[in-house]
Amino acid sequence: MATIATVRRVRLAALLLLLLWVPTVFPVAWLCMKLTGNATPGLLVGGLWLLAFAGSGIAMAVLRCPQCGQRFVRFNWIYPRHCARCGFRC
Ligand SMILES: [Zn+2]
Repeated sequence: MATIATVRRVRLAALLLLLLWVPTVFPVAWLCMKLTGNATPGLLVGGLWLLAFAGSGIAMAVLRCPQCGQRFVRFNWIYPRHCARCGFRC
């Protein structure tokens, strides 16, 4: 069973990874392309970012509610504020 702090930390990480993907990965890819003339470092950064985003989605999917112990999210896993089962808010 997760603590309230764990739920908040995983939820924030998933949201930041989603929102910061474009403002982070595209400038890094552009800079790598300008400096090296090679697209591989930019593609690597973008791929690693997507893997981290997928990991945060998996972490949200397996997260347990601090109150009822059931899965915290059902469908809205980007920024869920309430438990999908008992409605516990954290
Ligand atoms: Zn619950």
